[in-house]
Amino acid sequence: MHVCVLGAGIAGLSTAYLLQRDGHRVTVVDQAHAAAGASGGNGAQLSYSYVQPLAGPAIWKSLPALLLSPSSPLKIRPQLDVRQWAWAWKFLMACNAGTSLATTGRLLALAAASRAGFEAMLAREQLACDFSATGKLVLFRGDKEFAGARRQMALQRHLGGAAQQAVTRAEVLALEPALAQTGEAIAGAIYTPSECAADCHKVCTGLENVLRTRGVDFRLGTSVTGIDQQGGMMRAVHTDMGDITADAFVVALGAASTRLAHWVGISLPLYPLKGYSITLDLQGTGAAPRVNITDSARKVVFARIGDRLRVAGMAELVGDDASIPAARIETLKTAAEALFPGCAASAAVMPWTGMRPATPTGEPIVGRHKRGPANLVFNTGHGALGFTLAFGSARQVSALLPAPAAQHA
Ligand SMILES: Cc1cc2nc3c(=O)[nH]c(=O)nc-3n(C[C@H](O)[C@H](O)[C@H](O)COP(=O)(O)OP(=O)(O)OC[C@H]3O[C@@H](n4cnc5c(N)ncnc54)[C@H](O)[C@@H]3O)c2cc1C
Repeated sequence: MHVCVLGAGIAGLSTAYLLQRDGHRVTVVDQAHAAAGASGGNGAQLSYSYVQPLAGPAIWKSLPALLLSPSSPLKIRPQLDVRQWAWAWKFLMACNAGTSLATTGRLLALAAASRAGFEAMLAREQLACDFSATGKLVLFRGDKEFAGARRQMALQRHLGGAAQQAVTRAEVLALEPALAQTGEAIAGAIYTPSECAADCHKVCTGLENVLRTRGVDFRLGTSVTGIDQQGGMMRAVHTDMGDITADAFVVALGAASTRLAHWVGISLPLYPLKGYSITLDLQGTGAAPRVNITDSARKVVFARIGDRLRVAGMAELVGDDASIPAARIETLKTAAEALFPGCAASAAVMPWTGMRPATPTGEPIVGRHKRGPANLVFNTGHGALGFTLAFGSARQVSALLPAPAAQHA
């Protein structure tokens, strides 16, 4: 079967990888290049144990402060766009304990499958992607927040999550000596030894290189502009470089997936959730962590990728505005300096922004749609967890497309 994968982010490339291994003929289309979207500069965390959706019951209490504080990691700029309002409404409706718990359970299972798929690929292909398995520390400033995190840890253990432990400030410093210089209060942390990190951009370009050697046809710099449907099937996509026909199509266009869905009469519950990162070149600078760190109060994550430190955070509902305000970059630099004094002051800082393709519940959209063409499969909506979940979702897509000769490990 000839499968055309639309989008060369981590969702599209992990899917292309498994489909090619299944024995399909694969074409990958992207308007720019591999990892040009949200996969390019994300937080680099393979966050298999931290899949709890943003939509949770705690949001009701914290929402006023999140909306009103000028230093808040959350920002909403109301748009004349019914999609934004519908998304926000569905998000609030999902902010209850029952929905959050059910979603967490499903995402933990998907994350475990994704981990297996990613690690099998990495062992096979030996991609140079600054992979590390140094664990994660989620830091808490106050005793109340730390107690809440311990409750969540117990709940996740019940749902079959990975081994985690609550650690004191002294244990935190022993696990990550780079935190010794911080003047910030740390009441304690949740430590997850099995958490990993890698450079998602390098994973994407590495997959592209591997797939090219195996005959996958890459149509980069090629923008999808429309579709051609016949008799309940998708025949081709129109692009600015001509039509591309295939037997089946996978939509992995990230936050832009809504456009293609609209062409086939489907309204996807998807909205761009903008975030930012900075990448610090650590050559010759002060102490930087080896363990992945989450500053829970600031909602900022830190990942060591080779000689660089990736610092990422913020969630903004501001439509498609891809600008990078200096103030947001300063906030990330301040967060880095607060925990690791000296690391941002002298290092080269690379600012970046990306749009998380977010669903209100936090669950990705994977599979056919009952109103869509039978040969159209979606693989999108991974929100804040696209890197973490990519190989799990890709596996679900490959299971939907009959394989001539399955070769999965
Ligand atoms: C600040 C930030 C931090 C994050 N941190 C993490 C993290 O630590 N761990 C984690 O697991 N996830 C994280 N994420 C989420 C993760 O990055 C995303 O979920 C993931 O990258 C989505 O991948 P994707 O392939 O679906 O979309 P994308 O990477 O956005 O890829 C979509 C592709 O489609 C292409 N495209 C769009 N329109 C068209 C068109 N018309 N024609 C052709 N091509 C088109 C684009 O060029 C792009 O390459 C973070 C996201 C952000 C923004």
